[in-house]
Amino acid sequence: MEMTDKNVAFLYSSVCPDDRQKEGFVEFLEKKYNKPFELEWVEDQNILKGFKLVVDDEVYDWTLEGRYQQFKDMIENATGKAHITDDGSQYISTMKTSVDDWSVKVSPEEEGVVKTVGDGIVTASGLDSAQYGEVVLFESGVKGMVQDLRPDELGIILFGSDKEITEGSRVRRTKKTAGIPVGDNFLGRVVDALGNPIDGLGEIEADDYRPVETPAPGILDRQPVNEPMNTGLLAIDSMFPIGRGQRELIIGDRQTGKTAIALDTMLNQKGKDVICIYVAIGQKASSIAHLVGTLRKNDAMKYTIIVAATASDSAPLQYISPYAGTAMGEYFMNKGKDVLIVYDDLSKHAIAYRAMSLLLERSPGREAYPGDVFYLHSRLLERSAHLSSEKGGGSLTALPIVETQAGDVSAYIPTNIISITDGQIFLESDLFFSGQRPAVNVGLSVSRVGGAAQTKAMKKAAGSIRLDLAQYREMEVFTQFSSDLDDATKRQLTYGQGLMRLLRQNQNNPLKLYEQVITLVSATAGIMIEIPIEKITEFRKFMLESFASDEAALCRRIEETGKFSDDDKDYIIEKAKGYVDTFIKKNL
Ligand code: ATP
Ligand code: MG
Repeated sequence: MEMTDKNVAFLYSSVCPDDRQKEGFVEFLEKKYNKPFELEWVEDQNILKGFKLVVDDEVYDWTLEGRYQQFKDMIENATGKAHITDDGSQYISTMKTSVDDWSVKVSPEEEGVVKTVGDGIVTASGLDSAQYGEVVLFESGVKGMVQDLRPDELGIILFGSDKEITEGSRVRRTKKTAGIPVGDNFLGRVVDALGNPIDGLGEIEADDYRPVETPAPGILDRQPVNEPMNTGLLAIDSMFPIGRGQRELIIGDRQTGKTAIALDTMLNQKGKDVICIYVAIGQKASSIAHLVGTLRKNDAMKYTIIVAATASDSAPLQYISPYAGTAMGEYFMNKGKDVLIVYDDLSKHAIAYRAMSLLLERSPGREAYPGDVFYLHSRLLERSAHLSSEKGGGSLTALPIVETQAGDVSAYIPTNIISITDGQIFLESDLFFSGQRPAVNVGLSVSRVGGAAQTKAMKKAAGSIRLDLAQYREMEVFTQFSSDLDDATKRQLTYGQGLMRLLRQNQNNPLKLYEQVITLVSATAGIMIEIPIEKITEFRKFMLESFASDEAALCRRIEETGKFSDDDKDYIIEKAKGYVDTFIKKNL
């Protein structure tokens, strides 16, 4: 402590003490600390009765609320320990002793004082035994989390408004790590990063409370990814199949349909006993409202939870939101359920973390991100898993989204996240603007573990489509400037164009497994080559509707068993040929 003549103590109360009272305080302080004191009065209308005296890190709480709280704690402690006899006499005597012994206590171990506050970050002294990641409670009722332990102060991130927190405000330990209420009642609801409802539909009764950060399941608690998580998008399910428990990145520039892919996948889970969690990080509130509207309209909210930290929420709330969403997902996964979680998006998450870290004065590294930005996302995505049968067999499938700048996948955050996911769906602006939507770049996209999870039917139907498309792309480049092409080449090009056209799909329109199978089987058999390119979408619609009405049993069998035989294949091709003839007669 500094050696000055006079030490300053702060007195907080709603009415100014008179001179005699002030003298009393100074006398008390000088006697207690054995040095001269000066008293400064701070008006605080929140204190109804009594006062609060702050000396360095120590706080003497003589406010009505403070004393009431301490008294209540004491009574609870005392009654908890007492053996209650029949007549209750012992109970009363224990209470009496406690009341007699009771005095106001302050301990710098458990409490602290705010030194600085701003931008959602607080530094505080005291709180000597607080731990990293512990939740602390401010006088205003706002919660924060300890994020930095320094020798003489703590860095705390705030999960609420800093309006009522000022220099000198008190802060208290809770001895809890940050957690979030979880439970079945959250389905169909929109909550903030702390689990509070923000959809105006009233309180949510939680079944449990889970820490937002938990270690990922160990290797022995997992089993390989072997069940499909169908997106309903032909371009993805046929070539880049995703399995339950997988982490598949959706990456692309802004406005390339990233969110649309995640949303379609969520819509496609209807009736499949999958729970969806959509975590919005740094999105506009209006975009989130729009998404919720689409989910509601399609009757998909009842198996979905939205965790929203909007662009106007503080950096700490944005930072915590994906972990909170994951904690909610784990609750269901541990009950043996299959969960799909979308993080939209992790670029904004990294930016929020960078802002927070800079405000906490951590040293900036590459692109001004703090050194542990890789760990930020790896510890999040490691929590996706397909649990072993002993652990209930539940799964958590993650679809993180990352926004790139001008298609640059080699920037810092994109490369980090690519390296901790099991593949990526790469979306391209050029494709998107040319009308190829979803704008999946077939050459750059990959799914590393999903192949094992693809249904037999899909595997068989997809056949060589990836290879065919690769050939088509090469040929397209080669033949761009030549006018006289031989027939075989022309045919190849038309076939490729047709395939590309079939991969186009409207939003909110996921395809069923049998629809994808029939489309692929007939397309790869080359029977659509006669149909002009601009009529292909129309033909597919006609063909699928015809199959659904004429061959309902076959469709249902493929859908339910996830398989089809070689005879089925031949039959589908024959049938489809017939539809091509009908279509050409009718339309051309
Ligand atoms: P942002 O970078 O702003 O988050 P994003 O990459 O998530 O954008 P979306 O919001 O999903 O992109 O889509 C951008 C626009 O393209 C939206 O207006 C959406 O309706 C439209 N769109 C997306 N997918 C398709 C599709 N398959 N067919 C037609 N329009 C689509
Ligand atoms: Mg988006």
